[in-house]
Amino acid sequence: MKEVSRRAFLKGALASTAAVAAAGTLGVSGLKAVAEGKAIYTPGTYSAIEKGAMSNVKVTMTFSETAITDVVVDTAGETAGIGLEEGERLAALLKELQDSYIEGPITLDAKTGATLTRNAAEKAAYKCVQQARGEIPVEVIDSSADEDKAADWLGEAPEVAESEIAETLTTDFLVVGAGNGGMAGAAYASSKGYQVLVIEKSTTHARTRHWYGAIDSEDAQALGEKPVDRAALRRELKRYASGKTNMNAFNTWINESAAMHHFVKSCYAKYAPDMQVEVTAGDEAIWPHAEESGFFFPVCEHYWGHGIDRNDMFQQIIEESGNKILFGTPLVKFEQDDAGRVTGVIAQREDGAYIRVNANKGVLLAAGGYPCNPQMMEQLDPLGTAVTTSNVAWPSDTGDGIKAAKWIGAAMQAEAAPMLFDRGIIAPGIDAGYKVTSTGDKIFPATEGQFNLGSQPFLKVNRDGKRFTDESGTYDMMPYAAYNQPGHVYASIFDAGMPDDVQRFHTLGCSAGTRKNPQGQLDRFEQQIEKGNAFKADTIEELADKMGFQGEAKETFLATVARYNELYDNQEDVDFGKQAYRLSEIRKAPFYGFWMGACILTTLQGILVNEKAQALDEAGKPIDGLFVCGDNSGGFFVNNYPCLMPGIAMGRTMTFAIKAVKVAMGEEA
Ligand SMILES: Cc1cc2nc3c(=O)[nH]c(=O)nc-3n(C[C@H](O)[C@H](O)[C@H](O)COP(=O)(O)OP(=O)(O)OC[C@H]3O[C@@H](n4cnc5c(N)ncnc54)[C@H](O)[C@@H]3O)c2cc1C
Repeated sequence: MKEVSRRAFLKGALASTAAVAAAGTLGVSGLKAVAEGKAIYTPGTYSAIEKGAMSNVKVTMTFSETAITDVVVDTAGETAGIGLEEGERLAALLKELQDSYIEGPITLDAKTGATLTRNAAEKAAYKCVQQARGEIPVEVIDSSADEDKAADWLGEAPEVAESEIAETLTTDFLVVGAGNGGMAGAAYASSKGYQVLVIEKSTTHARTRHWYGAIDSEDAQALGEKPVDRAALRRELKRYASGKTNMNAFNTWINESAAMHHFVKSCYAKYAPDMQVEVTAGDEAIWPHAEESGFFFPVCEHYWGHGIDRNDMFQQIIEESGNKILFGTPLVKFEQDDAGRVTGVIAQREDGAYIRVNANKGVLLAAGGYPCNPQMMEQLDPLGTAVTTSNVAWPSDTGDGIKAAKWIGAAMQAEAAPMLFDRGIIAPGIDAGYKVTSTGDKIFPATEGQFNLGSQPFLKVNRDGKRFTDESGTYDMMPYAAYNQPGHVYASIFDAGMPDDVQRFHTLGCSAGTRKNPQGQLDRFEQQIEKGNAFKADTIEELADKMGFQGEAKETFLATVARYNELYDNQEDVDFGKQAYRLSEIRKAPFYGFWMGACILTTLQGILVNEKAQALDEAGKPIDGLFVCGDNSGGFFVNNYPCLMPGIAMGRTMTFAIKAVKVAMGEEA
């Protein structure tokens, strides 16, 4: 669909506007023209798009000869709670400006958290004005383009001429990405008195992710926890990834995460002495009847409560030691010497100029995964993309680091490993997978973030009303099972017994939130009812109608519920073998239901590394000078993320970040 249906009109408009444009930039004379009521715009509607935080922001403006008469700002692809809701407010502000456009590009004085969305709207609005004044060609927006799938995601390293490099900086150790890995590495380096520089694409460090996995930490031991069975842990990690992993890398996390925890603890001791660590231990950490399910759940999860934010604390440590974080400074590409050693990077400053950063002792690549790059998602992980409805990933994680490392010959994990949680609540009838917005962006269809109740092992059915799997497992299992079902989505059904059921289910990790506060989740459920995403009814028939089951599907749904009650009564799931304690009856009103798919948190398919966090080339040899941690690194989680080991992503990320510093700075060989 061509967005600009008035194309022919606009061609004519452009020609006639030439007369206006010929007068040059309107400036003061333009203001005079307005004052005299003379025409400055060619009447019509014009659109332009600019890149926002997550997607393109589209501005459409309608002009009379002398005024802006209507403004629409489409922020549909922006992040819920940050930029998504800003459209109407920005449109009103842009319309108010009127004559000030004539003086040149505009800046809205808007107090909003969505800086990138606002900046995109400002730029796009000015382009509309320029079109209406005939200063630039009319923009034709083709929202049907699906070039993403066709074009190779990797592309080529950009050419940067020496003459374009405005500045050269030199440091001992360079960290690319002020995220959860980069901040830990840079804080550790700073605490040791090393010279370190951090470059970060965004205007802040990434949001702190609090739960991290550490094995046999001093705090677990103080609680009287038995040492983790390390052999069993290694076997489970290997089994979970179907053996496609590097067990040496497992050992770095298993053997060194306690020291990582000790470092974090020492920082809190100095900056927030009252903060206490919580370790998921004792009865809380026991997966009921784990021996039957075959799941292995080591005690590893650590959490530092609500007090000082960890990355804020790390930033303080970095800056107090005299080191710096350069925000708004994305990595463009790596630089190497003739022997192939990575000597530093080319990055881009906020003003658009290129800078060279030389790193004497090494570079740590910590620029996150690719969850917010639809082209990479579709090409590298078609399965994860197909089953996902909701995206809560960090917006600037677009795979830049992976591309840059690949451009210099680094090897990448062959298969995808998305972090998918079974919490992407959506309205009935909506399929999982990307939808294309009016601005041509690809976004996942859900309007909500994570809906915790999704992870409870209640009855699940497909659009035909049919049960298709054992609902008990790790967070990613249900969405993957739904790949084989219509629309790649499924419905979850429960009754008034939910608060008791979830105690018996005793799910672990962050899904325990529902068990700890069932009423809170039911309150959230009510909010979702108002949004049309969740349904409550006095009878199961009424629920079926509300959920959209019709005709044969409704009959099947009612029969499935009856069958499920029978399995519960017999305390045996002869259909799929779900453990009896995870069955529940559906008999007591009110009855509840909602549709869902996966919620994506990040991707874990990255550059292959060895146990020292060194990047490997295609021959399996370390690339001198280049270290990788976190979601940028691969070879650890393959196909699936072991959600049963909560915090393992962060535990691995921070352990490897510190490892990289130790190796690069010569603390370890
Ligand atoms: C909502 C949510 C909750 C989570 N909770 C947990 C949890 O409790 N426990 C757990 O184990 N895991 C959790 N995770 C996963 C965890 O956040 C990641 O595995 C972890 O953050 C990886 O760290 P990282 O440093 O590799 O990436 P990030 O923390 O994402 O940081 C990457 C940084 O690189 C920057 N960057 C990107 N491109 C460039 C560039 N070109 N140049 C410079 N900088 C760049 C980004 O802006 C970002 O600041 C969660 C994820 C989400 C989304």
